[in-house]
Amino acid sequence: MKKDTEFFGDIQLSKKMLAAITEMGFEEPSPIQSQTIPLVLAGNDVIGQAQTGTGKTAAFGIPTLERIVDNRQIQALVLTPTRELAIQISEELTKIGKFKRIKALPIYGGQSIDRQIRALKFGVQVVIGTPGRLLDHIRRNTIKLDSVKTLILDEADEMLDMGFIDDIETIIQNIPAEDRQTLLFSATMPAPIAKLAGRYMKQPHKVTISKEQLTVPLIDQWYYETREKLEGLCRVLDVEEIGRLIIFCRTKKGVDDLVASLQARGYMSDGLHGDLSQSQRDRVMKKFRDGKLEILVATDVAARGLDIEDITHVINYDIPQDHESYVHRIGRTGRAGKKGSAITFIEPREYRQLKIIEKLAKTRIIRKQLPSSADILE
Ligand code: ADP
Ligand code: MG
Repeated sequence: MKKDTEFFGDIQLSKKMLAAITEMGFEEPSPIQSQTIPLVLAGNDVIGQAQTGTGKTAAFGIPTLERIVDNRQIQALVLTPTRELAIQISEELTKIGKFKRIKALPIYGGQSIDRQIRALKFGVQVVIGTPGRLLDHIRRNTIKLDSVKTLILDEADEMLDMGFIDDIETIIQNIPAEDRQTLLFSATMPAPIAKLAGRYMKQPHKVTISKEQLTVPLIDQWYYETREKLEGLCRVLDVEEIGRLIIFCRTKKGVDDLVASLQARGYMSDGLHGDLSQSQRDRVMKKFRDGKLEILVATDVAARGLDIEDITHVINYDIPQDHESYVHRIGRTGRAGKKGSAITFIEPREYRQLKIIEKLAKTRIIRKQLPSSADILE
């Protein structure tokens, strides 16, 4: 059994890289990081599988940026499913590459393509793109990928769920295969992803961090069974000590309706879903990150992979579709070793579905009684 590296200093990293990592406040590598960074540094193709919130971005970011040389060509390309993730990864890579002065650029739909074209002309070393917009640039011939040495498929399972597989293949085919290093990171490894890896990766090293090593134990999980979910939710909001909260709904309409109901009752909330314009989404996310909004109500897709600090609570106002969605949703809290609470509301008929989720997610979701009005008056 391989022992995890205890310090970043034990990995062969440059002074500039170690300084950036220290400045980011990372004290020791997470398991996925200590196991993948040396492999990537050595130039291998690597498949990294670990649950949400385990530091996969830095796992590929640190060694990839370490290998980047000082010119203005695109040397690394990260593919990621959503615009929010593209921005988030770009921010993290910019911090990692701070002392090497590495230029990273996010490229996503919903932002002016001309602005992106200008930025590309200016010259960047790392591009983080969503598949659709990236293809757009490839077709317009406004991006040159022949200098790409490292390709990273981040949150590969999410990209699959969102129907990007064909786009991804087209993009890969636009990158010279000869000395391309390909990295694939994902929380789960469904068959189509394994197949994709088989087609495009060269003798990949596989690193899997099993669930037991993950953060789920830091998340308190419980559920309430009620026919009056809105009433129940408001009671919970009144008794729980909430710092920041994400509430998940199944549909866009569900998000809008719940936001309207909460606002009408005086709860500072706003919604995030795919029908909002990019500027609306950015505004909501900024308010939430800046702490001007306590409650974010979102659909699964809108909240994918978002890394927002200090989320104390996740509430499943609608029961997740399956255990993977459950794990993804509750993974918004309890990040980076902090404690979090995950609360699920179910109607009586959904009890069986909850039990199945509990079993497949290999977790414990305990039953609680809704707080009574006496608890609230206290
Ligand atoms: P994943 O992609 O696996 O879901 P992220 O890369 O988004 O996870 O990382 C989750 C959070 O943990 C981020 O806020 C990140 O900055 C932080 N993080 C990553 N690695 C470390 C580390 N070694 N020490 C402390 N925090 C870390
Ligand atoms: Mg990630």
